[in-house]
Amino acid sequence: MSVDLHTHSTASDGTETPARIVELAAAAGLSAVALTDHDTLSGVPEARAAAERSGVELVPGVELSVDHDGRKLHLLVYFLEPGRGPLQDRLAELREGRTARNRRIIAKLRDLGYDITVDDVLAQAGGEAVGRPHIADALVARGLFPNRSAVFTDLLHDGGVAYEERPRLAAAEAISLARDSGAVSVVAHPYTIDGNRASYRRLFEELAALGLGGIEVEYPEHPLPLRETLGEVARALGLVATGGSDFHGAGKPGIAVGRGRGSLNVPDDVVARLRSRRAS
Ligand code: AMP
Ligand code: FE
Ligand code: FE
Ligand code: ZN
Repeated sequence: MSVDLHTHSTASDGTETPARIVELAAAAGLSAVALTDHDTLSGVPEARAAAERSGVELVPGVELSVDHDGRKLHLLVYFLEPGRGPLQDRLAELREGRTARNRRIIAKLRDLGYDITVDDVLAQAGGEAVGRPHIADALVARGLFPNRSAVFTDLLHDGGVAYEERPRLAAAEAISLARDSGAVSVVAHPYTIDGNRASYRRLFEELAALGLGGIEVEYPEHPLPLRETLGEVARALGLVATGGSDFHGAGKPGIAVGRGRGSLNVPDDVVARLRSRRAS
């Protein structure tokens, strides 16, 4: 059977509820699905209840954007439970950083002549992790852009005219907080990090020494040669090769839970291999 270890719900910037994601996973015949909303675990209880009803295993998680030597990368943290904990407590701070940054972006947009307010943005958000996608949705709701993606292209992409930075954890700190919280971290979609075989090997060697557990090898935007390279690096360094769709519902058209753009196939033994990486 197969699994999907990367999905976003209405708790962050996806358009489907946590329960619906689990139902989609069951319908796709998956044995497990991870909920990996940005900076929040608030969707986990609802997803877990749905998982108990459907017999699909729910892996609780989050996705974090972190800094490593001046570069941004995304970390997926698995088996992180809602409640208090070393990493859990930092998520609240990261969400506060989002709130302040959203205000700065909205101010920039207003200066540029786009008439949107904080309330317009909050009206687009279903959960507690609010960010650029909801700002984009607010501009779409005002009829100023055709879709989310067009707003990113014109205004909100990294370095774009309305872009603002937000506070991030360092990769080393995030990996170590994850371990201290009984969780395992995996580098998400490495195609977003420029690299070749040698530079990926160096990067993942450094992160493995810090306690990284795996690399997201199977991903809709990864061409076969990249998956081969990343798979070899994972094997050489003893890291788990994982995978997921990065499902966001209508927020990312053309991506299905468990199937990605059609050919995603992540074997179910990955879940047990990741679980065995938790610090005891
Ligand atoms: P934020 O976490 O607020 O910085 O927003 C980043 C999120 O925006 C990513 O996790 C994606 O879900 C979404 N995103 C980034 N680039 C695009 C894009 N070009 N089109 C649509 N959504 C995007
Ligand atoms: Fe997202
Ligand atoms: Fe990501
Ligand atoms: Zn994601």
